[in-house]
Amino acid sequence: MRRYFLATALGTCVALLIAVVWFTYHGYYTRALQETAQKATVTAQLQTQYLLSAVEKFEHLPHLAGAERTLSDLLLSPQNAALLEQANHYLAFAKDKTEVAAIYLIDTEGTTLAASNWQSETSYVGKNYRFRPYFQEAIEGRSSMFYGIGVTTGTPGAFIAAPLRVDGQVRGVVAVKIDLTPFETQWREAGLHIAMADALGVIFLTTQPDWRYRSLRPLSATTMDLLGSTRQYGDVALQSLGSQNRPLPIQELQALDIHGETYLLKVQDMGRFDWQMLLFSEPAEPHRKGLAAAEIAGLSLALVYLSLALVWQYRRRQTERRESQRALARVAAELDHRIAVRTAELTAANDIAVQTGKLAVLGQMAASISHEISQPLTALRTLADNATSFLARNDAANASDNLRIIGELCTRMGSIVGELKAFARKEPVRLQEVSVRQAVAGALMLVEPLRKTTATEIHVDGEDVLVRGDPIRLEQVLVNLLRNAMDAMEAQPERSLELQLRAHGDQAEISVRDHGPGLSADVLEHLFEPFFTTKPSGKGLGLGLSLSHAIVHEMAGSIHADNANPGAIFRILLPRVPAHHCTAPDERTAR
Ligand code: ADP
Repeated sequence: MRRYFLATALGTCVALLIAVVWFTYHGYYTRALQETAQKATVTAQLQTQYLLSAVEKFEHLPHLAGAERTLSDLLLSPQNAALLEQANHYLAFAKDKTEVAAIYLIDTEGTTLAASNWQSETSYVGKNYRFRPYFQEAIEGRSSMFYGIGVTTGTPGAFIAAPLRVDGQVRGVVAVKIDLTPFETQWREAGLHIAMADALGVIFLTTQPDWRYRSLRPLSATTMDLLGSTRQYGDVALQSLGSQNRPLPIQELQALDIHGETYLLKVQDMGRFDWQMLLFSEPAEPHRKGLAAAEIAGLSLALVYLSLALVWQYRRRQTERRESQRALARVAAELDHRIAVRTAELTAANDIAVQTGKLAVLGQMAASISHEISQPLTALRTLADNATSFLARNDAANASDNLRIIGELCTRMGSIVGELKAFARKEPVRLQEVSVRQAVAGALMLVEPLRKTTATEIHVDGEDVLVRGDPIRLEQVLVNLLRNAMDAMEAQPERSLELQLRAHGDQAEISVRDHGPGLSADVLEHLFEPFFTTKPSGKGLGLGLSLSHAIVHEMAGSIHADNANPGAIFRILLPRVPAHHCTAPDERTAR
């Protein structure tokens, strides 16, 4: 569909371009032809006028010359030698005064009696011209005009003849020959291309020498015979130019092909002389004007096409860009959707993992608790049973002994439950400014009984640092670490541990280092997990470090375990409060 549209549009554009080029060419060509025709008409009219006046100037010369008495006298007495001489002199005189080629007197038989050129070698005197049309017309009483080649001289000219009447009777003819060849030179010098043709279409005057005495069209045999009899063009073999007419968009001009060249021909009739002036113009000029205009029109239209194509292309690119942006947005949306789906899947998987983890912790917890509680329960069962038996036997001493042990076991079970409660408690820590030294002092006080029984030396070192935290919880963490340290050194003959307080930039570090067996790789890996313990039953639930880890993190700090070789070292890092900065307790509640 789109291709079809494109092909149609392209076809239309090309057709339009061709039409515009053609019509512009034709329009401008026609207009230029008209201009040429106008110019040619003016020139032709002017030139015919010149020619006409050049001939007409002498139209009455034969009459005037014939009025001379000597001529009529000679006609009446042709043998009179004195009269003949007079006539010859008179005619030579008249010729000189009027600048015609020749003036001569012919008798009724056509024989020249006297002539202006009587002295020249090519004198007309004695020559017979009865075959000439101008003589025949004049002898019949009419003035006549004729163009032809002189039979005697061989030079062309216009012949004007008039009858010479004596007492109302035609007794002879006076003829004047005019040389028109100077016109050829004149035209050539004016840059004109002109030919004069007679009524039969034979060119007798022309700026193109090889066209002289050629006919525009082939002449019929009868015409040829006629021309032969009048000897109009002497002995010249009249050939046709073989011109071919071609149609033109205007009527004032004709397109003529002569010897492979094309001419624009303007024909101007000379009316009364039966002659035609042929004015030839160059066809190249109108053609060139037409082409130039067509070229400009074609290029302009092509430019318009180009601009339209550019605009179209630009808009298409814009549309494509918009489409690709939309496609990109679609892909992005799809990607988002996929990510969301994947995330949901992962979250679900994670939830399952968390649930599984929770179940594992729960399982561990159940195992630890049942282990921790089932032992004392069995013992309680046995102690209670025995106490009953002792009482039945009135053995009050043993019975009360058993009851005391039952009491102790209950206390132990109570402490297990207490530890669990501490782990399970989810109260948020209350952050305030805490003096680390004070927290350490509190913790040392709480572990004092154990320190005494285990005979452990505790070295505290470093300056006080203020941290942001919960003082009770921090004490709880420190107690855990001190207890673990003393537990670890149980088997050592000498027991000592170092407690150091230090400030690192905006952090405070509290480290507890013992000289026990240190931490194996396995222990290091699971240390902070709840219910991880290596201690014998009744000694610990494995919740201390897990709890400490949680507390320190709630105070925006961290806890790290490492081997100190020998022994283990635990470091607590907490955010410091600048010494001068004093804030009220309970300022904010941590997550
Ligand atoms: P519990 O003390 O109840 O075992 P904890 O979470 O406090 O629980 O400690 C977990 C385990 O970490 C201990 O059982 C012990 O194996 C190991 N541990 C803790 N502190 C030390 C220490 N200072 N030296 C060697 N091992 C330690």
